[in-house]
Amino acid sequence: MNQELWRRSATKLKAYIPGKAIEDVKKELGLEEIIRLASNENPFGPSPKAVEAMQQAVLDSQLYPEATCSELRKKLGSLYDIDSDQIIVGNGADNVITLIGSAYINPGDEVIYCTPTFPAYRTITLLMEGTPVEIPVDENYTFDLQAILSAINDKTKLIFICNPNNPTGTIVEEDQLEAFLKQVPPHVVVVLDEAYAEFIGREGYHTGPDFVKAGYPVIFVRTFSKLYGLAGTRIGYAAGSKEHIAPIQAVREPFAANRIANAGAVAALDDEEYKNKTIQENKQEMKKLIKELQALGYDVAESHANFLFVDLKEDAVQLFEALMKEGILIRPCIAWGLGTHARITIGSAQQNEHLLQALRKVSQKLTTS
Ligand SMILES: *Cc1c(COP(=O)(O)O)cnc(C)c1O
Repeated sequence: MNQELWRRSATKLKAYIPGKAIEDVKKELGLEEIIRLASNENPFGPSPKAVEAMQQAVLDSQLYPEATCSELRKKLGSLYDIDSDQIIVGNGADNVITLIGSAYINPGDEVIYCTPTFPAYRTITLLMEGTPVEIPVDENYTFDLQAILSAINDKTKLIFICNPNNPTGTIVEEDQLEAFLKQVPPHVVVVLDEAYAEFIGREGYHTGPDFVKAGYPVIFVRTFSKLYGLAGTRIGYAAGSKEHIAPIQAVREPFAANRIANAGAVAALDDEEYKNKTIQENKQEMKKLIKELQALGYDVAESHANFLFVDLKEDAVQLFEALMKEGILIRPCIAWGLGTHARITIGSAQQNEHLLQALRKVSQKLTTS
């Protein structure tokens, strides 16, 4: 079909191609169980407290949600020691990023970020008729803050910094981030996408809330999809100064976050046991998995998230397909133009063991060398 009727900027976009649904893979390959290490989901399922709260919330499904998610914002406000009016909740971090772009980007505005990174920044920039300014990550697969500073001009509106970065798992050096923020001119807003911030394994590392409280022009974005295990219910949020959040409030749809997700998020925030377990197990399993993958001859970048960025040193799409037949899904990085890299979610101990067994069985590199 021709695209004459389309909004012109929409013709530049491609519909998201989702990973294969677990149900389809099972049916096609006749497998009982699929282990998905492709989407950075929490391997322990949702928090039991969240499940209970969501079951209760279902009973009120005929009612619209409380529009602003005030209870959740209050809880988040006390967690970060900021005013709840500085927080905005949306239908997942993805939706929040779309809202930020819709609120800030005028046609012709430039939006800077490094690649490879989360694709949502590019999508919303193109849709708003802005210009994506894409800078390669540095040799350590980290956002190149110096290069971003050099790319700022009068047209720059937003800078996205994905920290930890998806798909590389790297973080920027904390002192460098602060030095960078000091140099950003007043017509530019910095969006810190911190979907994995809770997994950062560095004591006292400063993140979005610290920078917002220090008065930097920062909006930080977080999600309940990763640490909190609520990817399926869709809920995320952004926070910044009241001035920075106001335009996002103006474009937010009235009921951006649904009643069930909201109840789940409120309960999950209080489930310290689940949170600690997730973070502890991720840390332990990461250490083990990195060692084992390196022993198999793969290059693994240092990670501060719940996934690893692995150079498999062979065609990652072929290996992905071979692993799928063994019931394991990983994410090849070919969409980012990286032919031998894959992003592999750190699973439970048992899932990771299955992954390693399957890799030993199907890897071309291992069987031919
Ligand atoms: C997963 C992810 C998101 C999206 O989270 P949702 O709340 O599920 O939409 C945003 N940014 C990054 C970097 C992510 O990896």
